[in-house]
Amino acid sequence: MRFPIGFSLAQAKYMTAQKRSGRKRYPTVVMLEPLYTCNLACIGCSVERHTGKLKDRLPLEECLKAVDDAGVPIVAICGGEPTLYPELPQLLETLIARGKYIILCTNALLLDQKVFGVIPPSKQLFVNVHLDGLKETHDFVCDRKGVFDKALDMIRESKKRGYLTITNTTIFKETDIEEVEQLCELLTDLKVDGILISPGYHYESVQRDVFLTQEEIHNRFRQVMKLSNKYKLTATPMFLEFAAGLRELACSPYSTVNFTPRGWKGPCYLIGDRYYADFNEFWDTVDWAYWETRQDRRCANCKMHSGFEHSAVEEASRSLKSMMQLAAWHVSG
Ligand code: SF4
Repeated sequence: MRFPIGFSLAQAKYMTAQKRSGRKRYPTVVMLEPLYTCNLACIGCSVERHTGKLKDRLPLEECLKAVDDAGVPIVAICGGEPTLYPELPQLLETLIARGKYIILCTNALLLDQKVFGVIPPSKQLFVNVHLDGLKETHDFVCDRKGVFDKALDMIRESKKRGYLTITNTTIFKETDIEEVEQLCELLTDLKVDGILISPGYHYESVQRDVFLTQEEIHNRFRQVMKLSNKYKLTATPMFLEFAAGLRELACSPYSTVNFTPRGWKGPCYLIGDRYYADFNEFWDTVDWAYWETRQDRRCANCKMHSGFEHSAVEEASRSLKSMMQLAAWHVSG
């Protein structure tokens, strides 16, 4: 199975309930960023996400309210580096007690101090480790030596302690797909529970030329598609076809909503045209119909997983053949 059965069922149940209630658009994931403080400054990361002060973090109550207001089954906690968030144990404990599935997106440097032995493993908690390549590449991307070795040690320890452990790899201009395959092989040997490979996002605040053009994304992802048959990749075949330029999709920026220390970020994780204090105001004000069409110049090269995976699954549900393909993919991992 690509995902634990409980996770897939919770998602399917939620999506069915949303459709039955007649909602055309609905969020499925809150990307919760409790702080914009980080212990790294990776080269492809937006500047604001690693330069914030700890004192400006979101209070625990605001994080919980944001998840309640959005009503989603899945919370991806990122940032910033979420293990630096002092209230992380209470946040996780409360979200798990409320039945949420949590993806803790981390660079892994502090897992041994802040998570292991502090927050017990749970079927609702995924530890998601950032790894953009093998040692030389990953340390280059993170702009610090030793990060790859530490991340690997933490993945081993995470598996040993019984945490659901997944990884997250971004493809940049310099990424060599052969190296990505070697990384997949290594992670498979470590028995990770899933590997997400997705195209880099082009943040306007990043000056360095590290992002792929659309044609480069297509070429790389035609190769990544082949890896999906061999390794436990978690992006759906429909998303990978889109990333490879073999199918078109509308964007679904509403499917993964982003709550930050500045408020709800609209329209999406990538573009912060406006921040909103109130969820309903955010939801009712953003012109989702406009952003779905990808006509904005800033959408031109975007193949962001959080913008398009929902569209890929929706597209699959429109034909029996695609639904069968998706079901086969789910059980094949
Ligand atoms: S295409 Fe990308 S940048 Fe544009 S709204 Fe969708 S996710 Fe955001």
